[in-house]
Amino acid sequence: MLKSCEIYTSGQPCPMCMSAIYWSRFDAVYFSQDLQDTQDIGFSDEYQYDDFKKPIEERSIRMEQFCPELGKPAYDAWRARPDKHPY
Ligand SMILES: [Zn+2]
Repeated sequence: MLKSCEIYTSGQPCPMCMSAIYWSRFDAVYFSQDLQDTQDIGFSDEYQYDDFKKPIEERSIRMEQFCPELGKPAYDAWRARPDKHPY
């Protein structure tokens, strides 16, 4: 955990990096160039942020739940673990 830490970047973080930032619990992100600037040099991070706002059935990559009973035991085992790290 990086609570009470801040991160400085050249560009607004892509969704993958932003996910790591969320998981790490940074308090703040400061970036120099925004998503439009990033798109202007050939990276398409903005479309991913836009895609995440859509319901999963409307996203550009098909996502759907399947066989929920197969993953449930792993979730149940995690839930029952007394020594799990809180997220
Ligand atoms: Zn990134």
